[in-house]
Order: sequence, then structure tokens, then C-alpha cells
Amino acid sequence: MRAILTYHSIDESGSVISISEEVFREQIVWLARSKVRVVSLDTLMRMPSDANAVALTFDDAFVSFGDVAAPLLADHGMPSTLFVVADAAGKTNRWPGRRDRGVPELPLLGWDALGRLPAQGVEIGGHTRTHANLARLTNGRIQDEVVGGAERIKREIGHMPAVFAYPYGAVSDDAVGIVASRFAWGCTTDMRWVSANEARALLPRIDMFYLRNRGQLERWGTARFRYRLSWRAGARLVRRHFHDVTGGRQS
Ligand SMILES: [Zn+2]
Repeated sequence: MRAILTYHSIDESGSVISISEEVFREQIVWLARSKVRVVSLDTLMRMPSDANAVALTFDDAFVSFGDVAAPLLADHGMPSTLFVVADAAGKTNRWPGRRDRGVPELPLLGWDALGRLPAQGVEIGGHTRTHANLARLTNGRIQDEVVGGAERIKREIGHMPAVFAYPYGAVSDDAVGIVASRFAWGCTTDMRWVSANEARALLPRIDMFYLRNRGQLERWGTARFRYRLSWRAGARLVRRHFHDVTGGRQS
């Protein structure tokens, strides 16, 4: 079983973007001891589909990634990918025009800290300029958000990002086309493990919000784990459909 895992913030708020430091540390220690290999996103996608491996991804580049995750992952020699919102570095996750209920306002890493991470095995990926919902933008605005954001990362830290994550997992044909033309890999929030023939710019990921309780990741690969994941993915689709129909926000 191969999968790309999605974390956001490591904090004690219990919010939908948070995992507690204690559970996060337990998960990393378990991964280090288990038969599940932790590899880079690129390596994961080049492994056979029956390989037992995960890639760790962190969205939005919270300060808690730098304080807690980066040193712990470096201690264990584990690579990771950090998706950076280019125009928000050094600010907070109060994205323009949005007030997401239940999501705390948290500080984001600045460019100095971000620039030091690649030397510790952290790949910096693109996550637009402003955390925009790309499904609602024109082609020109998508170009600016996706390509402009990647160019800003290159200007600031010297590397053009090779991977991208869609904010809110929101995609459109235009957005996927632009991501496919500029990045090796594009990550969605489509919640399932990685199968044999994935579209390069539409990779699925497993949101760790659904595995945020003690002991859940540790059931990795068991029938019960797979069942739980499928059930969660189904419930999420139903909820998203309901939100779309009622005009509510997508999570
Ligand atoms: Zn994000």
C-alpha cells in the first residue's frame, strides 16, 4: 500500500487542520519502527504499486512545522514535502476573503526559515500565491496564482518547486492543465491510497485529520484500516455534495 499523507498544523487546538504534538510524535516513531518506508513524493510515485511506503506532506507551511516536525523528521532521516503559500510566508493562514469556522489563525514560516529547510530533507512545493480556490478563477488568474507563486518561491529560496498542492483540493480543467505543464506532480485532497496508474497532476492524499487519534495510523494496511478509509472517503464525498448543493463552503 502506497499513500501520500497530508498534515497541516501541529497544535493542541483540536481543529480540523490540527494534530496534537503527542500523537504526531507517536506516529513518526511508529513509522520509523514499522515496515512502512517513508520516502519523498517523487520516490513514492516511482515505486511499484504494491510497495509499502508513504510520503509525508504538510500544507500551508505553519510555524509548527519548523518548530516540531522538521527537527523530528530530520532526527529520523525522513524526507517530507512542505507546500508554501508564496505571498503569505511570514504572515498567517487568514486567507484573503475567507473566514473558515473552526480554523484557528496561526503563524506561517518566513522565507529565512523556509530557505533553510531543503538542507534538512524538506522539499518546498507550491500552494499558489494566496491560497486561492482555483476552481473559481479564470485561466489568467490561475496562471498568476500557480506559476507566479512558484516563481516567487524560486526568487526567495533559489529552487523552482517541482510539486504542487491545490488549496482546498479544488481543481478545474484549466488548473490541472497548468499544474501538469509546470510541475512533476500535483496533489489533491482525493482521499485514497495511490494506485498503479495515477494522473500525474491529480494525486490522491490521505488527510491525517481522519487519523488524528492515538493508534489509528498504527493499524496501517489492515482490513479494518482500509475499510475505515473507504468509509471516511465516502462520507466526505457526500458532505461535499451537500455543501455544493446548498451553496455552502467546501472543507
Ligand atoms: Zn492549504
